[in-house]
Amino acid sequence: KLPPIDGDFYDMALKLTPKQRELQIKVRNFMEDEIKPIANEYWNKAEFPFQIIPKMAELNICGLTYDGYGTPYETYVMEGIIAMELARVDVSISTFFGVHSGLAMGSIYICGSEEQKQEWLPKMAKMELIGAFGLTEPEVGSAVAGGLGTTCRKEGDEWVLNGQKKWIGNATFADVTIIWARDEASDQVKGFLVRKGNPGFKAEKIENKMALRTVQNALITMTDCRIPESDRLQKCDSFKDTAKVLRMTRAGVAWQAVGCARGAYEAALKYTKKREQFGKPIASYQLVQNHLVEMVSNLTAMQTLCFRLSELQDEGLLTDEHASLAKVFCSMRTRDVVSQAREVMGGNGILLEYDVARFVADAEAIYSYEGTKEINSLIVGRAITGYSAFV
Ligand code: FAD
Repeated sequence: KLPPIDGDFYDMALKLTPKQRELQIKVRNFMEDEIKPIANEYWNKAEFPFQIIPKMAELNICGLTYDGYGTPYETYVMEGIIAMELARVDVSISTFFGVHSGLAMGSIYICGSEEQKQEWLPKMAKMELIGAFGLTEPEVGSAVAGGLGTTCRKEGDEWVLNGQKKWIGNATFADVTIIWARDEASDQVKGFLVRKGNPGFKAEKIENKMALRTVQNALITMTDCRIPESDRLQKCDSFKDTAKVLRMTRAGVAWQAVGCARGAYEAALKYTKKREQFGKPIASYQLVQNHLVEMVSNLTAMQTLCFRLSELQDEGLLTDEHASLAKVFCSMRTRDVVSQAREVMGGNGILLEYDVARFVADAEAIYSYEGTKEINSLIVGRAITGYSAFV
C-alpha cells in the first residue's frame, strides 16, 4: 500500500502504475520544493518566476499525451494527475503550464502540418520555446464560435491579421502565440503561429487581477500583422478544429479545479488539527468536522469523476459534453471547498501566508476560463435534451 495522502480519500493513486506514481511524486516534490516557497511572493507582486522554467523542463511533462516530437507519450489520466499536482500547490503555475503544453502545443499537434509540428513541438516539449493561445477578445468571450472580430485576409503568400485578443496567458513573453481569426473571404476560423517580435503584434500586460496574479495575461493588438502562409495552421479549416483543442484542454481544467480544492483542503485540515480554541484543537469540534467532511466529499467526487473522464479520453470516447460536465461540476465544487477551507481558518484564512487565500481567489478564474459555468452547462444541456439554448 502506498503512503496515505490527505486529499486522496479513495486512494486513487493506487490505480496508477509504479512508473506513473513515480512521476506523480517527482512532480509533487518539484512543486513542494521549488514552487511552494515562492508562490505567495510572486502571486502578490504579480510577476512570473522565469527562473523555474529550466527545472520544470527537467520533469519532461510537456505534451505528455502527444505521440512523438520528444514528448513522453503517457495517458490522459497521467496528464490529469499532473495538472492536479501543479494546481495543488499553485494554480498560476498550473495555468502557465496548461496554456503552454495544452492549448498552444495542443493546437499545433491537432491543427499543424507535419513540418510545423517538427519545427515547434520538440523545442516546446523541452520548454526552450514557450507558447500562448489567443482566442478570447475584448468584445467576444463566450460567443467565440461564431463571432470572432479578429480578421485575416490573404494577400499573395501572406495573411494580414487585424483585431484584439484579451486575457491571453503567457503572451507577454511567449515565443509563439496561436491566434484564431475569421477569414474575411470564407467567414471560417483559421489559426496562425504568430512569432515573437512580429512588428504588427503588441501584447500589453493586464494589471490589477484578483486571481491567478502570477500568470501574465495580455491584451493583444494586431495591426496589419503579416503572417506567411507557412505559419498558418494547415489543418484548421473552421472553428470545429479549434473546438477539438478546447475539448482536450477543458478536461485538464477540471483536474486543475481538483488540485485547487485539494491544496485548500489539505492546508485547512492541517490547520484545524493544530489550532486550539477553548482548550482543544478546533478539528475536535463537530461543526468543524462537518466542514471538513463536506470538503473531502466534494473533493473525492471531483477526483473520481475526473479519473473516469480521463479514462474516456484514453479510450478515445471523450465528447464535448463529457468534458463540459466535468468542468462545470468541478469548478462549482471547488468554489465550495475553498470557501469552507477559508471559513475553518477564521481570520487567518484571508492571509496569503496561511496558504488558502490564494486558492480562494484562483478558484474564481477556474470558474470562468475555458468556458463559463453557463456555457459548459449549455453544452451538456444541448446533449441531454437535443435543444440548443445558446441564443
Ligand atoms: P462573457 O462571454 O462576456 O460572459 C459574461 C457572463 O454571461 C458569464 O456569466 C457567461 O456565462 C454569461 N453568458 C454569456 N452567454 C450566455 C448565454 N448564451 N446564456 C447564458 N449565459 C451566458 N482566453 C484565451 O483565449 N486564452 C487564454 O489564455 C485565456 N486565459 C484566461 C485567463 C484568465 C485569468 C481569465 C479570467 C480568462 C482567460 N481567457 C483566455 C478568457 C476566458 O476563456 C473567458 O473569460 C471566458 O470564455 C468567458 O468570456 P468573457 O469573460 O468574455 O465573459
